[in-house]
Amino acid sequence: MYPMWTQSWPIAELQQLDRESRKILKENGGYHPMGTTDLLYLPKKFGGRGLKSVESTYKNIKVKTAIKLYANEDPTMRMVREFEEKCERTGRRSLKKDTERYASERGLYLKLSYPCPTANTEEGEELPGEKVGVMMMIKEEESKTKEVRQQKWQGKLIEARWDDADVIGCFSWLCRWKTAPTHTVVGVYELYQQLLPSKIYQQYKTKTSNDTDVKCRMCGKAMESVPHVLSGCSALAQSKYKTRHDAALKVLFFDLLCDMGLIESAPSWCSPETPKPEYKNDRASAFWDVPVYAEKTEVRANWIDARVVDKQKKKVLLLEMSCPWMTNRKQKEEEKTSKYAPLRREIRQQYPHYKIAQYNIIIDVLGGVSRKTLDSIKELVGVRADKILLDIQKAVISSALNIARSFKVLTAQDL
Ligand SMILES: [Zn+2]
Repeated sequence: MYPMWTQSWPIAELQQLDRESRKILKENGGYHPMGTTDLLYLPKKFGGRGLKSVESTYKNIKVKTAIKLYANEDPTMRMVREFEEKCERTGRRSLKKDTERYASERGLYLKLSYPCPTANTEEGEELPGEKVGVMMMIKEEESKTKEVRQQKWQGKLIEARWDDADVIGCFSWLCRWKTAPTHTVVGVYELYQQLLPSKIYQQYKTKTSNDTDVKCRMCGKAMESVPHVLSGCSALAQSKYKTRHDAALKVLFFDLLCDMGLIESAPSWCSPETPKPEYKNDRASAFWDVPVYAEKTEVRANWIDARVVDKQKKKVLLLEMSCPWMTNRKQKEEEKTSKYAPLRREIRQQYPHYKIAQYNIIIDVLGGVSRKTLDSIKELVGVRADKILLDIQKAVISSALNIARSFKVLTAQDL
């Protein structure tokens, strides 16, 4: 990128470079061919792929160069400015003219006057020269975001994610999971952009199917869409969804076991090891997927996911995990809390002087979590919360991709 500020390059050639790099990326499985271009160029923290566009980088550098030139008090720079202005007067290509155009494409009106160059925004705010570069980038992100929102199919779930005020750092796993395999990242974008070859997709998006039947090929009950395949299919509930649920919860469970000295070390999030039904030592006991023996018959829901009895702190921790569809997170939380109210009462009687606490770990199928779930994890594992959360997200996302892969195999067989 070094020669960018000294050289003038034809924009068409830079655009060609961007096109070529997108082509290479798509041809090598780095991005779905139907994936939205604008999402590719958004930063990861906004759910984009964080690719840099040569064209925008060039334009930003040029604008910053022009601003530096007009703020520079070195006498020799005066000659450069005069040269540029002469070019402009005589109708030749000039840095001044070019950069005014580049800035205006982002809704900024450059005022290149020595020694305090500024820019006006469309809203009429005047920006000092040194802030213009950052504003160029913000404006670019805004326009890309707008484009993604307008993509009714590919942008729908991304938009829902952006607008979900309850979810925290929804794309943070993308930035934090540095070693995520490319196929994992590509796969998640495919799901986010609803590009799974479901019947709904083939009927309404690619229009490659004349079949008016859009019922799920696995359960035959509901429409075959991304939300259905990932979280609503009764044919997968006892198999794939259960595996995902356990893979996610065991990350937290193993960590608690380790903390109470019930095991020596916690296996990695991707280890196939499953917890035993029961663990015991002098300090604590823990139960995995074991129903609570209840004396009262009103306790129907006695099968809580996991239980840890901390004798030292006189606490009973009840853990419930759920991986619902994005929009059902809140509802799941409430459902879990009310479902186990009789059980909590029962346990309170069994452990009279103990504190009983139920923690609902709700993480949606694409890895989104609410503040409440993060707070629960923090209460349970303290400073290890961020790492544990990321490992749970990895487990959930990997399971989602496993489901998507199996589904694709199934659709290929149906062809
Ligand atoms: Zn189904």
